[in-house]
Amino acid sequence: MFKVIWDPAYNGVRLTMSSKGDALNVSPRPVFWEELDLLGLNKRGWIYPHVEEPLMWACDRRYFYKGQFVLEVKGGNVFDAPEVIQQEGYEILTLQPVDMERLRSRNEDTMFIIEHEAMDFINQTYRRYKNIREVSQKNPDLDFQQLASSLEKKTKEEHVVIKEDCDSFDVMPLSKAEEQGKAPIYNSNIEMYIISFSGGKDSQVTLDLVTRVIPSDDLKVIYSNTGYELPSSLELYKQVEAIYKEQYPTIEFYVAKNHEEVLNFWDMIGSPSNVHRWCCGVMKTAPLYKLLKDISSLKRQPHVLSFIGTRAEESLRRSTYQKVAKDAKHTNVINVSPILEWNVTEVWLYLFLNNLPINIAYRKGLGRVGCIVCPFGSDWNDYLCNRIFPETAEPFLNKIREIVRKGGVKDIDNYIKTGNWKIRAGGKGFETNSKISIISTPQSPDFKALLTYPKENIFEWLKVLGTSSWKQTDNVYEGQIKYNSDIIELKLTFDELNNTILVESFNVLQNSLFVSHLRRVLNKVTYCVHCELCEVECPTGALNVVPIVKIDSNKCVKCRRCLDFKDDGCISANSLKQAEGIKMTSQKDK
Ligand code: SF4
Ligand code: SF4
Repeated sequence: MFKVIWDPAYNGVRLTMSSKGDALNVSPRPVFWEELDLLGLNKRGWIYPHVEEPLMWACDRRYFYKGQFVLEVKGGNVFDAPEVIQQEGYEILTLQPVDMERLRSRNEDTMFIIEHEAMDFINQTYRRYKNIREVSQKNPDLDFQQLASSLEKKTKEEHVVIKEDCDSFDVMPLSKAEEQGKAPIYNSNIEMYIISFSGGKDSQVTLDLVTRVIPSDDLKVIYSNTGYELPSSLELYKQVEAIYKEQYPTIEFYVAKNHEEVLNFWDMIGSPSNVHRWCCGVMKTAPLYKLLKDISSLKRQPHVLSFIGTRAEESLRRSTYQKVAKDAKHTNVINVSPILEWNVTEVWLYLFLNNLPINIAYRKGLGRVGCIVCPFGSDWNDYLCNRIFPETAEPFLNKIREIVRKGGVKDIDNYIKTGNWKIRAGGKGFETNSKISIISTPQSPDFKALLTYPKENIFEWLKVLGTSSWKQTDNVYEGQIKYNSDIIELKLTFDELNNTILVESFNVLQNSLFVSHLRRVLNKVTYCVHCELCEVECPTGALNVVPIVKIDSNKCVKCRRCLDFKDDGCISANSLKQAEGIKMTSQKDK
């Protein structure tokens, strides 16, 4: 938001409005003695005290003392230390800590502006959604969202709900709202306000800001334990929970975690990679939304306003995010990012000025606190995680070694340290008996597929396509499904000896939507590992996948969100199908 300049007299930094002159292009982060020790500078001629305060600042991997460029760190990987290059003239250096009193006094005015702007935004957003729910509850016949969509249909122009003064709301075309600078309300029925806490500094600042504004009895803090957590993040969560519970006794804290251990998923659907990005969805998103469903009295996905610590500076993709974003990850969730425009120095100043606890991993050099192993992690991150928390990293590195070995790689550690495991697209090293062969022919209007070793009950998943009736003769089931307004004929032939199901549907190939949905259903039947990702898409609570898939026909409204949320309709099918190169084969291909 502000620019940063060096304030060399006290080894500090200062926020400034001006982007000219000495303003830095990159915002610096503080550097503590733990990081310098880890780089071995205590043995390379540098003298510094082991104190609480930072000793210098870093912009990426360039280090600055009193505004002077004194050190650079290059290379390194998960197993090898980086090269440490002391700049000429700084081979011997005695460091004085940052003068925290002056850091505070020089920045408190600008931080006051930033903080209060963020709190004002949080307050306005909260009040807007809170008021509209209250107005809607008092006037059950008044559905603003319904009104907006019927006006939209009539006028063929996008309409939105906006807040007027006090408790009054209006519906107007989006273009008019934008012209008048009015923010649209995306859902008039928000049932829960949550803060997503990750153990990182950005979510910590967001948590602190939000608790200063929103009544604590209306807030839930949710920590997503992905199974890849750094020990220091788990430790910080405990600290944070204790601090805020003491300050705000009515605030509720929860930990969201998948029922399955993460390495078991690696065994079942393959290691994550930058092609197969199942980790975030399965280990973070699904447990979070599952928890929301479980704690909601309605036992379905509640409509949620979620305060998150996303910052635009972090990546090009995040720089395109909206401060209030609907449907960002889930149709029932509106993400609100109060510190979207903050830079990293501002985040650190907030932590210092408010005396908040700091995740120890930052003191040891991590710029971002995330997972112990990540296909998107930088070499520097990999090195630090393995160096700081070797016992936590070891099972994951061993699992990567095992997979790579099965894939026939000879120089395993070299393969890992050059990051080749992160770009897996093929499936060497993963084994599954389950597969689908599509055996339709272009000459026939019928759909045919053979499922081998299906993992789930096909009748259960077929419920999402429509109501059905079946006639059984020995191992053959013939039936009809009412799919939208069509009646579709299906035949299932079970071969228990070979553990296969032959699925046939007659005269359907021209109905491409049905065929696409049927294929997704078959993917689920064949590959489901109960990851919960599609369960949390279900708006009515009809779908439960643990320990086995169960669909409550009375609650299922055939919306098919559980099929459409992902290509292939199933995260496991997506990973294994591509991993094993299982091709959708047809007779023609043979
Ligand atoms: S997502 Fe829709 S189709 Fe799937 S189980 Fe839930 S209600 Fe049924
Ligand atoms: S069917 Fe759903 S719960 Fe099962 S593995 Fe696929 S996405 Fe996960």
